[in-house]
Amino acid sequence: MPDDQFIDRARRLASRHLVADGDGFDFGRCDPADTGPFTDGDRAAAKESTKALLADGVRVLSEMQDKLYAQNRWSLLLVFQAMDAAGKDGVIKHVMSGINPQGCEVHSFKAPSAEELDHDFMWRCTRLAPRRGMIGIFNRSYYEEVLVVRVHREYLRGQQLPPELVGKSIWKERFQDMRKYERYLARNGTIIRKFFLHVSKDEQKRRFLERIDDPSKNWKFSAGDVSERAHWDEYMECYDDMIRATARPHAPWIVVPADNKWYTRLVVSSAIVEALASVDLHYPRMDDAARAQLAESRARLLAE
Ligand code: ATP
Ligand code: MG
Repeated sequence: MPDDQFIDRARRLASRHLVADGDGFDFGRCDPADTGPFTDGDRAAAKESTKALLADGVRVLSEMQDKLYAQNRWSLLLVFQAMDAAGKDGVIKHVMSGINPQGCEVHSFKAPSAEELDHDFMWRCTRLAPRRGMIGIFNRSYYEEVLVVRVHREYLRGQQLPPELVGKSIWKERFQDMRKYERYLARNGTIIRKFFLHVSKDEQKRRFLERIDDPSKNWKFSAGDVSERAHWDEYMECYDDMIRATARPHAPWIVVPADNKWYTRLVVSSAIVEALASVDLHYPRMDDAARAQLAESRARLLAE
């Protein structure tokens, strides 16, 4: 498939799940088992037919990244949030499989260290925002601050904030800080896409059981994951609120159905292609002086 046609298709697929304005967001209409235009009824066939699209996605992405890096003007920040076992790691591994490691950095944010807790809540992430020309991936992010920290209020108490600054509107204030920060990044040339991998509670259970039953997957499981699952509904409310408050045209959320891994990967890869296609990526253009210099170097090499 020619690249423009592919990009067009990617844009259409991504737009099904893209939330660019949180105000109209309706979480109830997002089905974790959705497979978009692939509704043949026969999942195996649909999965098979997307293999070529996924491979094309990896190739197109690699070409775009090459320009992003050479041009050294824009950067791309990809944020991944999800409940456990929704497939963040697998998506990151798959989607990035064709890209140049020199132009990409992945950062995972787990429970914060003492040093991190001694700083403002976005500090540990903002210092790792991608440089120009780079793709930066946040595997979890400052959004944990309105998710796990909201579900477990005791974490907020551990943050050493002056008590008079912790009021009823703390979550609203954090949303506002995130919006402003992302606005600031966008104004400085960072393209932002935020992914919520939306897995169902049933599918999570199935994946946990698989992790327990398959010795090669035991390492991925921790007993704590089951305790977090008990807070499922609270998490969903927090996700809903977060997406409403922080989805903006320059920093949209993509609510990715995550019960079928092949579809999750296709949507994520399409949204990244769409994001990079939204700016004018091109190799640096040579001016007359630079061209003259190239000609001179060429002549010197040939004269050796
Ligand atoms: P993942 O769960 O992302 O696949 P993992 O299982 O290797 O990775 P964990 O040790 O589970 O790593 O670390 C992730 C955990 O850290 C999540 O439960 C997350 O909610 C928690 N976490 C992340 N950021 C914060 C934060 N700011 N405050 C408290 N907990 C946090
Ligand atoms: Mg975990």
